[in-house]
Amino acid sequence: MSGHLLSIGECMVELSQAGDGLLRKGFAGDTFNTAWYARLCAAPGWQVDYLTALGDDQTSQDMLGFMAHAGIGTDAIRRLPGRMPGLYMIHLKDGERSFSYWRETAAARQLAADGDHLRRELESADLLYFSGITLAILPDADAETLLSELRRAKAAGKRVAFDPNIRPRLWKDRERMLSVISEGARASTLVLPSFDDEAQHFGDASVAATLDRYTGLGVADIVVKDGPNGATLRFAGREDMHVPATMVERIVDTTSAGDSFNGAFLAHYLEHGDPAAAAAFAAGIAARVIGEHGALIPREKLFA
Ligand code: ADP
Repeated sequence: MSGHLLSIGECMVELSQAGDGLLRKGFAGDTFNTAWYARLCAAPGWQVDYLTALGDDQTSQDMLGFMAHAGIGTDAIRRLPGRMPGLYMIHLKDGERSFSYWRETAAARQLAADGDHLRRELESADLLYFSGITLAILPDADAETLLSELRRAKAAGKRVAFDPNIRPRLWKDRERMLSVISEGARASTLVLPSFDDEAQHFGDASVAATLDRYTGLGVADIVVKDGPNGATLRFAGREDMHVPATMVERIVDTTSAGDSFNGAFLAHYLEHGDPAAAAAFAAGIAARVIGEHGALIPREKLFA
């Protein structure tokens, strides 16, 4: 089988500690991480593309090269003269990670500013993927443009997958955050929320409450991730299914657990059409990812 997945959002420059005061440069961002794992897990015939906006500086150029090297298509990426990508730094203190971000002026904030470009790119793909972070970084009017194009795609019968990925720091206020995330879900055919986030921000008392809330928003297929407690699936109104997490002997770094789960799930589900098997496969990939340092684990380590 073959198909075309388009992931939409922001990829940033990542600076992590490399010892002796040195910094290591990488590239990461939730929707990009998902594209990375979808690419590694999908059959070779699948096309995996990334849609964002970048500048015309050297760092943007390097990021494009990195994506292309990973086999991720970059033709849908807008290039904005004079702009640059966002950046974040990972601090490590007593084994605890914290982050500083420089992303307010990132080119990615313009990814939906050209409605014609967006429509063209969305029309060319079979499966669209975006997140609450994608919506949070856009100016209000552009978030509406993206949502209306996604609704159009859903109405045209395309699959639209969404991870609410709730990050209050990125939103002006809580009310808008919850309403725009709910609109994101309404525009989707599949949502992949993390129960922790949903409980904290939507007040869901149980995984069943999260499933019911998204069902109420008209989402046909739902995967609620719940860390080591595994995932619960509700597909096309069928009976809920629970898929356990894969046990991890030594947790090294949980960055990208949810992103890698999503990428692996999408790749497997689209190829085989079996949601429980896709969730079991995705749990195995996420377990490998949290057993290693960093957001993006290379093919050799992922399938070792
Ligand atoms: P997020 O990173 O988005 O918060 P979760 O914490 O729910 O997402 O984790 C996503 C997936 O990663 C889970 O469904 C599970 O398969 C796997 N996972 C996360 N934490 C663990 C863990 N401690 N042990 C085993 N698997 C885990």
